[in-house]
Amino acid sequence: MRPASLCVHEPHADPEWLHAHITPIAATTTYAYEDPEHLRQLFTGERSGYVYSRWSNPTVVAAEEKLATLEACGLCDDQGQPLRLKARLFGSGMAAISTLMLAFVGPGRKIVTQHNLYGGSHELLLQVLRPLGIDVVMLHLKDLAQVERELQQNAALLYVETPSNPTLECYDLASLAALARSCGVPMAVDNTFATPLLQQPLACGANAVVYSATKFLNGHGNAVTGALIFHPNEELEKRVFMLAKLLGNNSNAFEAWLLLNGLKTLAVRMERHCRNALQVATLLHRHPAVQRVYYPGLPDHPDHPLVRRQMKDFGAMISFELRGGWSAARKFLQRLRLCRMAVSLGTTDTLVQHPASMSHAGVDPDLRRAAGITDGLVRMSVGLEDANDLAEDLTQALNAAE
Ligand code: PLP
Repeated sequence: MRPASLCVHEPHADPEWLHAHITPIAATTTYAYEDPEHLRQLFTGERSGYVYSRWSNPTVVAAEEKLATLEACGLCDDQGQPLRLKARLFGSGMAAISTLMLAFVGPGRKIVTQHNLYGGSHELLLQVLRPLGIDVVMLHLKDLAQVERELQQNAALLYVETPSNPTLECYDLASLAALARSCGVPMAVDNTFATPLLQQPLACGANAVVYSATKFLNGHGNAVTGALIFHPNEELEKRVFMLAKLLGNNSNAFEAWLLLNGLKTLAVRMERHCRNALQVATLLHRHPAVQRVYYPGLPDHPDHPLVRRQMKDFGAMISFELRGGWSAARKFLQRLRLCRMAVSLGTTDTLVQHPASMSHAGVDPDLRRAAGITDGLVRMSVGLEDANDLAEDLTQALNAAE
């Protein structure tokens, strides 16, 4: 070969790299084979393997397998065997949620859900799916009689987010799943706030779980990814694969690798996140500038008994209402020194944001207020700092907001 050919060609892969202790980043778009018959079989599905990284990629698959194993951890199937699940990684939580919805629901069918969803999911349902002819009914998921009535009328999916973003309302997954099953409707759960370590919706009877893996699963705020996890089912797997392949909303090797790296510390992070959050919620609860605290770990939270049953701990998300409304919220946010003001959540450091003007700004103001998102509401994702530093920062900012 001459220099130009030598420059462009890959060296022959060294099989020794398979001994790498840490999963390598497979930064490749395509996969080369010797025999066209091999590729033909990959295209027809007669043989499994990698073809093109929009379809599948070894680092992405490693992250998918880890997520599936984590979600199934400790659970058994009907035969008492360890539960095996399928996971698909996406380019964002919204990509996972939109693919889930398109996989389960088509025009003329209905999605039944709550009114208090993450702003992006709310907008997706009302601004994208409803105009495509998908009926969307948002109701109070604690009213089981009303949920049952809606499920009986042409529903194709019950979609639940618990704890909800940002008001931390929690729903009884076992009761909702039993109701959905009796009506022949699948149920999917956005488990972003809880993570599989604190709550396992499939153990409660849900059919699928979605995550913004951008949040606690990654944990370090350095990659946007999402996941859809479900029971193996050939038809559903084909549909999810087809949608992901053709919508092109796949994740990539680098972000999957960042997720794999972040997942290593999920258990220790969640422990510390939850411990810090309970201390912060208790402090907020006692401060005179705060009118109301939404944290399911506080004994006076209306969902506290349910969450004690359904979750292993109370999570790291807290919202609270300042007595002085928007002007107090603004002063409080301006005064913070250690806590950072930013949307997103689940990072190692504490993030604080104002849902009415940030994460839920795209939701109709009347619907927003009906969901409890007032101008004085502030949301916190409590990080892994020393709890005393958090207490000092929050106290000085709250004092300024009184
Ligand atoms: N679900 C919840 C509960 C969220 O909070 C978010 C984002 O904040 C999403 C889904 C969307 O995730 P992503 O931003 O990764 O698309």
